[in-house]
Amino acid sequence: MRARPEVLVVGAGVNGLGTAHRLAKAGVEDVVVVERKYPMYGGSGRNGGGVRAQWASLSNLELARDSIDAWKRYAGELGLHTWFRQSGYLMLARDRDKLDAMRERARFQRQHGIPTHIVSPQEAQDLAPPVAMERYVGASYCPEDAVIFPWPVVNGLREAIEDHDVDLHTRTPVTDVTTDGDRITAVGTPEHTFEPDWVVNAAGAWSSELAQMAGVDLPNTPVRHQIFVTEALRPMLDPMVVDMHTGLYVNQDGRGEFVTGLGDRHRREEVTHAASFDFLRRAADQLTDLIPSLGSVNAMRQWAGCYDVTPDHVPNLGPHPELANFVQLNGFSGHGFMVSPVVTEITKRLILGADPRYEMSRYRVDRFEQGTVDAEAMVIG
Ligand SMILES: Cc1cc2nc3c(=O)[nH]c(=O)nc-3n(C[C@H](O)[C@H](O)[C@H](O)COP(=O)(O)OP(=O)(O)OC[C@H]3O[C@@H](n4cnc5c(N)ncnc54)[C@H](O)[C@@H]3O)c2cc1C
Repeated sequence: MRARPEVLVVGAGVNGLGTAHRLAKAGVEDVVVVERKYPMYGGSGRNGGGVRAQWASLSNLELARDSIDAWKRYAGELGLHTWFRQSGYLMLARDRDKLDAMRERARFQRQHGIPTHIVSPQEAQDLAPPVAMERYVGASYCPEDAVIFPWPVVNGLREAIEDHDVDLHTRTPVTDVTTDGDRITAVGTPEHTFEPDWVVNAAGAWSSELAQMAGVDLPNTPVRHQIFVTEALRPMLDPMVVDMHTGLYVNQDGRGEFVTGLGDRHRREEVTHAASFDFLRRAADQLTDLIPSLGSVNAMRQWAGCYDVTPDHVPNLGPHPELANFVQLNGFSGHGFMVSPVVTEITKRLILGADPRYEMSRYRVDRFEQGTVDAEAMVIG
């Protein structure tokens, strides 16, 4: 066992595993990942697989836009099928004010190389034939937005790090962290003590809890979100469709199932994986309002997971201001899967002392005190 790794990654989700993989590929020999349960236990095994560049802040837009480019190559690089499909996001507006705001954002996105445009209800209908379009006044549409199937990505990363001789300890929760001055000196689990040079906090909805073990704060809050899935039907819906009024989102996946998500009516701020009947009833009602022909199909599965939400809906990246070797890779709200290719590359570059290539002041944990916040307004659910 490597007790003194160069890098100890806490959390084996897409971002922890992705960072370990990039570091190992770059030649870092001693990388260890510790995971309290198993690799798909957190958000990486519970998300909707949505990938979009339609963002209102440069902080999220740049991460997502460049990740979409990377996702195109990802399957080939890892030698696996990710089910990455660029069939667009169609974001529906019910009133003129909302549509005007979306028009502004579409202009902003085009300035940054993203081909978003506003479409009429008729054009939206052509893009999404089964949607009842009467209540919508228009939509924004980006044909490069996409969906991906998260599970093969996470499984592929797990295999890839094993090929690179990274140690992965599952069922191994971090339970205590020792610090000395501005550094973490030891990380304890029930069976081992590690003395790493660097610690990466990729603990998802538990990232604040981990930070507290190290005696520092993060501005993150865990918030429950849920999804339900129908039986498989013949292909009829190409883009991800979002009702910007209710936050309901739905896409028909490669197997023909409709995957539907919606925020809870009463925001539940705790780490819980309990799924609720209230969600299922509301989401099913809203889905059948949106796509009436789904009224008689069967719901097959439902689950809950947690977003790790920051006040500005922008992730925390880079060393914690109070602990120089404690690298943050968390606070991803509902978009931590889609940006994974870029945020793991940034994290690798920071650890190796290379230029991260992005304006990092927007992602620093102390951005709220430093006045460098670039808050996100285009949040769904
Ligand atoms: C319902 C839902 C829908 C979503 N939809 C989308 C979407 O469409 N697109 C998108 O991009 N994102 C989406 N997300 C968000 C996305 O899933 C997450 O942002 C992303 O998966 C985070 O990955 P991660 O690797 O950072 O963390 P996680 O996948 O959460 O992994 C963190 C891991 O850390 C482990 N851990 C925690 N504490 C400890 C500890 N003390 N010791 C050891 N291990 C620990 C956990 O067990 C967990 O496995 C959604 C999330 C949910 C819940």
